[in-house]
Amino acid sequence: MAQRVTLIPGDGIGPELAEAARRVLDASGIAFEWEVVDAGEAVMAEYGTPLPEHVLESIRRNRFALKGPITTPIGEGFRSVNVTLRQTLGLYANLRPARSIEGLETRYQGVDLVIVRENTEDLYAGIEHMVTPDAAESIKIITRAASERIARFAFDYAVANGRHKVTAVHKANIMKLTDGLFLDSCRHVAEDFAGQVEFEDRIVDNMCMQLVQKPELYDVLVLPNLYGDIVSDLAAGLVGGLGVAPGANIGAESAVFEPVHGSAPKYAGQNKANPTALILSGALMLRHLGHPAAAERVETALREVIAEGRRVTYDLGGDAGTSEFADAIVERLATAPAAAG
Ligand code: NAD
Repeated sequence: MAQRVTLIPGDGIGPELAEAARRVLDASGIAFEWEVVDAGEAVMAEYGTPLPEHVLESIRRNRFALKGPITTPIGEGFRSVNVTLRQTLGLYANLRPARSIEGLETRYQGVDLVIVRENTEDLYAGIEHMVTPDAAESIKIITRAASERIARFAFDYAVANGRHKVTAVHKANIMKLTDGLFLDSCRHVAEDFAGQVEFEDRIVDNMCMQLVQKPELYDVLVLPNLYGDIVSDLAAGLVGGLGVAPGANIGAESAVFEPVHGSAPKYAGQNKANPTALILSGALMLRHLGHPAAAERVETALREVIAEGRRVTYDLGGDAGTSEFADAIVERLATAPAAAG
């Protein structure tokens, strides 16, 4: 039976990337039935909101969605669709793998990090107010429940994916209560995995330095929301930048797979943008759906096309368009051995 998935093409470069990713995933050996629903700028006039209720209903019904980037209008009174989706659907874990791609010229080779970012609280809760006309305050909320939940997610992920170490990242030396609670929660969960997954912690500033000096020493990192946001972009930079950085937002009931990058409006409709991040987000979805062999096939075909370097987009040093890049991957998949699942 075909796997039903919600597909949200998104704004800007989103639709062309979504088309490319859909063609590649359809060639993965797994049958998909895509329910295409629009969100973002294109639906504002019709529904008065960039995130109509039927889009949320579609994700709730199908439980899994592949999503292109959505433009967040600055200062127009609309909350980010991305933040709203995460909060409304309870997508508490943001998973961002950062793995070196052969053939892609970067400062480092052999980077293989997984960033697990808490998605629901911390300074990202956006609780701010003016104390006086000249002083503003933002409230940082950290709870034991959310911290233990994300720590458990990181350890479970490590076990399920054969990873050997989890590093908790914090600033508990200064924020003794909030980050202290986060660290304490991670330590508590780590006890359940003693002997199975190694555990350590790093202060966030030191972590940033370590990642640019010796990223190969790290494996799975677990972080509160804000540090997770920053460190995951740092990790993306280590392996080739936004065009190749996939992501997933995972909750107890549903999961939304999306690239780290935004809608890059200046390239919209030009068949220029790199579909790698959305395709790799699709591979993450395949794994999440229990099809590791199909995910591996997609990742291998993509890596081979990049390593060959002939039919890749401008940002990877080529002159192929989005669709030609996808054609090259689909052709490779057609000749690769069939996936078992
Ligand atoms: P962006 O990621 O859209 O673009 C920054 C630059 O990165 C682009 O100008 C381009 O040079 C490059 N780039 C990004 N993706 C690329 C790709 N696939 N191929 C080739 N080059 C690529 O960031 P921005 O300009 O800060 O944001 C644009 C809009 O996207 C904003 O409205 C922002 O709110 C939104 N956004 C959405 C998401 C999301 O939907 N999850 C995430 C980030 C930003």
